[in-house]
Amino acid sequence: MQVMLAQPRGFCAGVIRAIDIVEQALAKFGPPVYVRHEIVHNRHVVESLRAKGARFVENLSEVPGGAITIFSAHGVARVVELDAQARGLQVLDATCPLVAKVHGQGQRYVAQGRQVILVGHAGHPEVEGTMGRISGPVLLVQTERDVDALDLAADTPVAYVTQTTLSVDDTRAIIAALERRFTDIVGPDINDICYATQNRQSAVRELAKIADVILVVGAKNSSNSNRLCEIGAEAGVPSYLIADGSELDAAWVHSAGMVGITAGASAPEELVDDVLEALRRLGPIEVSVLPGIEEKVEFRLPAELLGGRSAPASVS
Ligand code: SF4
Repeated sequence: MQVMLAQPRGFCAGVIRAIDIVEQALAKFGPPVYVRHEIVHNRHVVESLRAKGARFVENLSEVPGGAITIFSAHGVARVVELDAQARGLQVLDATCPLVAKVHGQGQRYVAQGRQVILVGHAGHPEVEGTMGRISGPVLLVQTERDVDALDLAADTPVAYVTQTTLSVDDTRAIIAALERRFTDIVGPDINDICYATQNRQSAVRELAKIADVILVVGAKNSSNSNRLCEIGAEAGVPSYLIADGSELDAAWVHSAGMVGITAGASAPEELVDDVLEALRRLGPIEVSVLPGIEEKVEFRLPAELLGGRSAPASVS
Protein backbone atom coordinates (compact mmCIF):
# COMPACT_ATOMS: atom_id res chain seq x y z
CA MET A 1 0.00 0.00 0.00
CA GLN A 2 1.26 3.47 -0.91
CA VAL A 3 0.93 6.11 1.81
CA MET A 4 1.33 9.83 1.07
CA LEU A 5 1.78 12.35 3.90
CA ALA A 6 0.54 15.89 3.31
CA GLN A 7 3.03 18.73 3.78
CA PRO A 8 2.58 20.75 5.93
CA ARG A 9 0.53 18.85 8.50
CA GLY A 10 0.21 18.83 12.28
CA PHE A 11 1.46 21.37 14.78
CA CYS A 12 1.34 25.06 13.87
CA ALA A 13 3.39 27.80 15.56
CA GLY A 14 0.47 28.82 17.82
CA VAL A 15 0.08 25.29 19.17
CA ILE A 16 3.83 24.83 19.66
CA ARG A 17 3.94 28.11 21.60
CA ALA A 18 0.95 27.16 23.78
CA ILE A 19 2.42 23.77 24.71
CA ASP A 20 5.83 25.39 25.34
CA ILE A 21 4.19 27.87 27.69
CA VAL A 22 2.71 25.08 29.84
CA GLU A 23 5.94 23.06 29.82
CA GLN A 24 8.13 26.04 30.64
CA ALA A 25 5.74 27.24 33.35
CA LEU A 26 5.95 23.78 34.94
CA ALA A 27 9.75 23.84 34.72
CA LYS A 28 10.07 27.40 36.04
CA PHE A 29 7.40 27.57 38.76
CA GLY A 30 6.87 23.87 39.50
CA PRO A 31 3.59 21.94 39.43
CA PRO A 32 0.77 22.42 39.62
CA VAL A 33 0.00 25.04 37.01
CA TYR A 34 -3.61 25.55 36.04
CA VAL A 35 -4.81 25.71 32.43
CA ARG A 36 -8.19 27.13 31.55
CA HIS A 37 -9.78 24.83 28.93
CA GLU A 38 -7.76 22.28 26.92
CA ILE A 39 -4.56 24.14 26.04
CA VAL A 40 -5.10 22.90 22.46
CA HIS A 41 -7.82 20.55 21.25
CA ASN A 42 -5.98 17.24 21.50
CA ARG A 43 -6.51 14.67 24.25
CA HIS A 44 -3.01 13.18 23.87
CA VAL A 45 -1.41 16.59 24.36
CA VAL A 46 -3.63 17.32 27.36
CA GLU A 47 -2.93 13.93 28.99
CA SER A 48 0.81 14.29 28.52
CA LEU A 49 0.78 17.75 30.16
CA ARG A 50 -1.49 16.50 32.93
CA ALA A 51 1.06 13.78 33.68
CA LYS A 52 3.70 16.51 34.12
CA GLY A 53 1.58 18.44 36.62
CA ALA A 54 -0.80 20.65 34.61
CA ARG A 55 -4.36 20.83 35.92
CA PHE A 56 -7.08 21.60 33.39
CA VAL A 57 -10.16 23.54 34.49
CA GLU A 58 -13.13 24.99 32.64
CA ASN A 59 -13.87 27.65 35.25
CA LEU A 60 -11.44 29.88 37.12
CA SER A 61 -13.41 29.22 40.33
CA GLU A 62 -11.59 25.85 40.37
CA VAL A 63 -8.19 27.59 40.64
CA PRO A 64 -6.75 28.40 44.10
CA GLY A 65 -6.02 32.10 44.69
CA GLY A 66 -2.57 33.24 43.50
CA ALA A 67 -1.92 30.12 41.40
CA ILE A 68 -0.16 30.19 38.01
CA THR A 69 -2.94 30.10 35.43
CA ILE A 70 -2.60 29.71 31.68
CA PHE A 71 -5.19 30.80 29.14
CA SER A 72 -5.47 28.40 26.19
CA ALA A 73 -4.44 29.09 22.58
CA HIS A 74 -8.07 29.85 21.69
CA GLY A 75 -8.10 33.08 23.71
CA VAL A 76 -10.50 34.25 26.40
CA ALA A 77 -13.15 36.92 26.81
CA ARG A 78 -12.22 40.09 28.69
CA VAL A 79 -14.56 39.04 31.51
CA VAL A 80 -12.41 35.93 32.10
CA GLU A 81 -9.33 38.11 32.36
CA LEU A 82 -11.11 40.36 34.86
CA ASP A 83 -12.21 37.29 36.84
CA ALA A 84 -8.57 36.14 37.01
CA GLN A 85 -7.55 39.58 38.21
CA ALA A 86 -10.25 39.58 40.92
CA ARG A 87 -9.02 36.18 42.11
CA GLY A 88 -5.39 37.34 42.22
CA LEU A 89 -4.30 34.65 39.74
CA GLN A 90 -0.91 34.90 38.05
CA VAL A 91 -1.71 34.62 34.37
CA LEU A 92 0.33 33.44 31.42
CA ASP A 93 -1.58 34.04 28.20
CA ALA A 94 -1.14 31.32 25.56
CA THR A 95 -3.65 32.94 23.20
CA CYS A 96 -2.24 32.45 19.69
CA PRO A 97 -0.91 35.77 18.38
CA LEU A 98 -3.02 35.30 15.24
CA VAL A 99 -6.18 34.98 17.37
CA ALA A 100 -5.09 38.07 19.33
CA LYS A 101 -4.66 39.83 15.97
CA VAL A 102 -8.33 39.14 15.17
CA HIS A 103 -9.28 40.62 18.57
CA GLY A 104 -7.28 43.75 17.69
CA GLN A 105 -8.89 44.02 14.24
CA GLY A 106 -12.34 43.81 15.83
CA GLN A 107 -11.52 46.52 18.35
CA ARG A 108 -10.24 48.83 15.61
CA TYR A 109 -13.47 48.38 13.63
CA VAL A 110 -15.53 49.21 16.74
CA ALA A 111 -13.42 52.36 17.19
CA GLN A 112 -14.32 53.30 13.58
CA GLY A 113 -18.00 53.11 14.54
CA ARG A 114 -18.69 49.90 12.62
CA GLN A 115 -20.98 47.03 13.56
CA VAL A 116 -18.69 44.00 13.83
CA ILE A 117 -19.83 40.68 12.34
CA LEU A 118 -17.90 37.54 13.29
CA VAL A 119 -17.85 34.63 10.85
CA GLY A 120 -17.45 31.53 13.02
CA HIS A 121 -18.99 28.56 14.76
CA ALA A 122 -21.21 29.15 17.80
CA GLY A 123 -19.88 27.62 21.00
CA HIS A 124 -16.25 27.27 19.86
CA PRO A 125 -13.96 28.71 22.57
CA GLU A 126 -12.18 30.95 20.06
CA VAL A 127 -15.52 32.45 19.01
CA GLU A 128 -16.57 32.97 22.63
CA GLY A 129 -13.21 34.61 23.34
CA THR A 130 -13.36 36.87 20.28
CA MET A 131 -16.96 37.93 20.96
CA GLY A 132 -15.97 38.68 24.55
CA ARG A 133 -12.90 40.70 23.55
CA ILE A 134 -14.54 43.15 21.19
CA SER A 135 -16.39 45.89 23.02
CA GLY A 136 -19.83 46.58 21.64
CA PRO A 137 -22.22 43.97 20.30
CA VAL A 138 -20.73 41.42 17.89
CA LEU A 139 -23.07 39.54 15.56
CA LEU A 140 -22.17 35.92 14.76
CA VAL A 141 -22.90 34.44 11.34
CA GLN A 142 -22.30 30.78 10.59
CA THR A 143 -23.95 30.46 7.17
CA GLU A 144 -25.01 32.54 4.19
CA ARG A 145 -28.58 32.20 5.47
CA ASP A 146 -27.51 33.89 8.73
CA VAL A 147 -26.28 36.81 6.63
CA ASP A 148 -29.72 37.19 5.00
CA ALA A 149 -31.33 37.12 8.45
CA LEU A 150 -29.24 39.98 9.89
CA ASP A 151 -31.56 42.71 11.14
CA LEU A 152 -29.48 45.62 9.83
CA ALA A 153 -30.09 48.25 7.17
CA ALA A 154 -28.11 47.75 3.96
CA ASP A 155 -26.18 50.99 4.49
CA THR A 156 -25.11 50.18 8.08
CA PRO A 157 -21.32 50.59 8.37
CA VAL A 158 -20.19 47.02 9.10
CA ALA A 159 -16.92 45.11 9.37
CA TYR A 160 -16.26 41.40 9.49
CA VAL A 161 -13.67 39.32 11.29
CA THR A 162 -13.37 35.53 11.13
CA GLN A 163 -12.55 32.51 13.26
CA THR A 164 -8.98 31.53 12.35
CA THR A 165 -9.59 27.84 11.67
CA LEU A 166 -12.51 27.96 9.25
CA SER A 167 -12.25 26.66 5.72
CA VAL A 168 -11.00 29.55 3.62
CA ASP A 169 -13.54 28.61 0.92
CA ASP A 170 -16.49 28.57 3.33
CA THR A 171 -15.39 31.91 4.69
CA ARG A 172 -15.12 33.34 1.20
CA ALA A 173 -18.74 32.41 0.39
CA ILE A 174 -20.07 34.02 3.58
CA ILE A 175 -18.00 37.15 3.03
CA ALA A 176 -19.31 37.38 -0.53
CA ALA A 177 -22.85 37.21 0.91
CA LEU A 178 -21.99 40.00 3.37
CA GLU A 179 -20.60 42.12 0.55
CA ARG A 180 -23.81 41.65 -1.45
CA ARG A 181 -25.90 42.55 1.62
CA PHE A 182 -24.05 45.71 2.79
CA THR A 183 -22.90 48.79 0.89
CA ASP A 184 -20.34 50.00 3.47
CA ILE A 185 -18.32 46.97 4.52
CA VAL A 186 -14.66 46.38 5.36
CA GLY A 187 -12.67 43.38 6.56
CA PRO A 188 -9.20 41.83 6.52
CA ASP A 189 -7.76 39.87 3.61
CA ILE A 190 -9.01 36.32 4.32
CA ASN A 191 -5.82 34.84 2.89
CA ASP A 192 -4.05 36.57 5.76
CA ILE A 193 -6.16 35.10 8.58
CA CYS A 194 -3.93 32.17 9.59
CA TYR A 195 -1.04 30.86 7.52
CA ALA A 196 -1.33 27.40 9.13
CA THR A 197 -5.02 26.94 8.33
CA GLN A 198 -4.43 28.09 4.77
CA ASN A 199 -1.37 25.88 4.23
CA ARG A 200 -2.96 22.71 5.71
CA GLN A 201 -6.08 23.21 3.63
CA SER A 202 -4.06 23.75 0.43
CA ALA A 203 -2.01 20.62 1.22
CA VAL A 204 -5.07 18.43 1.75
CA ARG A 205 -6.48 19.65 -1.59
CA GLU A 206 -3.25 18.50 -3.26
CA LEU A 207 -3.48 15.19 -1.39
CA ALA A 208 -7.05 14.71 -2.60
CA LYS A 209 -5.83 14.78 -6.22
CA ILE A 210 -3.87 11.55 -5.75
CA ALA A 211 -5.31 9.71 -2.72
CA ASP A 212 -8.09 7.11 -2.79
CA VAL A 213 -8.86 7.72 0.87
CA ILE A 214 -7.73 10.41 3.32
CA LEU A 215 -7.09 9.95 7.02
CA VAL A 216 -7.06 13.19 9.03
CA VAL A 217 -5.35 12.78 12.39
CA GLY A 218 -6.98 15.06 14.92
CA ALA A 219 -9.49 15.39 17.72
CA LYS A 220 -13.24 15.41 17.14
CA ASN A 221 -13.47 18.84 18.83
CA SER A 222 -10.66 20.30 16.72
CA SER A 223 -12.20 22.83 14.35
CA ASN A 224 -9.33 22.91 11.88
CA SER A 225 -9.11 19.08 11.75
CA ASN A 226 -12.83 18.85 10.95
CA ARG A 227 -12.36 21.38 8.14
CA LEU A 228 -9.51 19.29 6.65
CA CYS A 229 -11.80 16.25 6.66
CA GLU A 230 -14.60 18.23 5.00
CA ILE A 231 -12.27 19.55 2.29
CA GLY A 232 -11.11 16.00 1.47
CA ALA A 233 -14.74 14.82 1.25
CA GLU A 234 -15.77 17.84 -0.86
CA ALA A 235 -13.02 16.89 -3.31
CA GLY A 236 -14.75 13.52 -3.68
CA VAL A 237 -12.31 11.45 -1.61
CA PRO A 238 -13.66 9.43 1.35
CA SER A 239 -12.12 11.17 4.37
CA TYR A 240 -12.05 10.09 8.01
CA LEU A 241 -11.09 12.01 11.14
CA ILE A 242 -9.26 9.73 13.59
CA ALA A 243 -7.64 10.50 16.94
CA ASP A 244 -4.92 7.84 16.54
CA GLY A 245 -4.19 4.42 15.02
CA SER A 246 -6.69 2.65 17.29
CA GLU A 247 -9.55 4.32 15.38
CA LEU A 248 -8.42 3.08 11.96
CA ASP A 249 -11.03 0.86 10.28
CA ALA A 250 -9.37 -1.65 7.94
CA ALA A 251 -12.39 -1.50 5.61
CA TRP A 252 -11.61 2.16 4.77
CA VAL A 253 -8.22 1.32 3.26
CA HIS A 254 -8.91 -2.25 2.11
CA SER A 255 -9.05 -1.45 -1.60
CA ALA A 256 -7.06 1.82 -1.57
CA GLY A 257 -3.94 1.96 -3.72
CA MET A 258 -2.95 5.30 -2.19
CA VAL A 259 -3.78 6.33 1.38
CA GLY A 260 -3.35 10.04 2.10
CA ILE A 261 -2.64 11.21 5.64
CA THR A 262 -2.70 14.68 7.11
CA ALA A 263 -3.01 16.03 10.65
CA GLY A 264 -4.77 18.99 12.23
CA ALA A 265 -2.81 21.86 13.71
CA SER A 266 -3.19 20.48 17.24
CA ALA A 267 -2.20 16.86 16.46
CA PRO A 268 1.36 15.78 17.35
CA GLU A 269 3.43 13.89 14.77
CA GLU A 270 3.63 10.86 17.10
CA LEU A 271 -0.07 10.29 16.38
CA VAL A 272 0.66 10.25 12.63
CA ASP A 273 3.34 7.64 13.40
CA ASP A 274 0.74 5.71 15.38
CA VAL A 275 -1.58 5.66 12.35
CA LEU A 276 1.31 4.48 10.14
CA GLU A 277 1.92 1.65 12.62
CA ALA A 278 -1.75 0.69 12.45
CA LEU A 279 -1.52 0.59 8.63
CA ARG A 280 1.62 -1.55 8.84
CA ARG A 281 -0.28 -4.08 10.92
CA LEU A 282 -2.58 -4.51 7.88
CA GLY A 283 0.30 -5.10 5.45
CA PRO A 284 3.47 -3.59 4.02
CA ILE A 285 3.36 0.15 3.29
CA GLU A 286 5.57 2.54 1.37
CA VAL A 287 5.54 6.07 2.83
CA SER A 288 6.26 9.28 0.85
CA VAL A 289 5.79 12.96 1.61
CA LEU A 290 3.96 15.20 -0.85
CA PRO A 291 6.08 18.29 -1.63
CA GLY A 292 4.56 21.37 -0.02
CA ILE A 293 5.19 24.63 1.74
CA GLU A 294 7.96 24.64 4.34
CA GLU A 295 6.78 26.70 7.31
CA LYS A 296 9.25 28.81 9.27
CA VAL A 297 6.83 30.75 11.48
CA GLU A 298 7.72 30.97 15.19
CA PHE A 299 5.99 32.94 17.93
CA ARG A 300 7.83 34.32 20.96
CA LEU A 301 7.00 33.11 24.44
CA PRO A 302 5.54 35.58 26.96
CA ALA A 303 8.15 37.83 28.58
CA GLU A 304 7.55 36.18 31.99
CA LEU A 305 9.00 32.92 30.66
CA LEU A 306 11.94 34.51 28.86
CA GLY A 307 13.30 36.50 31.82
CA GLY A 308 14.36 35.61 35.38
CA ARG A 309 12.48 33.48 37.87
CA SER A 310 9.82 35.97 38.97
CA ALA A 311 6.21 34.88 38.69
CA PRO A 312 3.91 36.63 36.17
CA ALA A 313 2.09 39.65 37.50
CA SER A 314 -1.63 39.43 38.01
CA VAL A 315 -3.52 40.48 34.89
CA SER A 316 -4.52 44.08 34.55
S1 SF4 B 1 -4.26 27.32 13.68
FE1 SF4 B 1 -3.51 29.42 13.27
S2 SF4 B 1 -4.65 30.73 14.71
FE2 SF4 B 1 -4.89 28.59 15.42
S3 SF4 B 1 -3.22 28.31 16.92
FE3 SF4 B 1 -2.43 27.64 14.94
S4 SF4 B 1 -1.38 29.46 14.08
FE4 SF4 B 1 -2.74 30.16 15.73
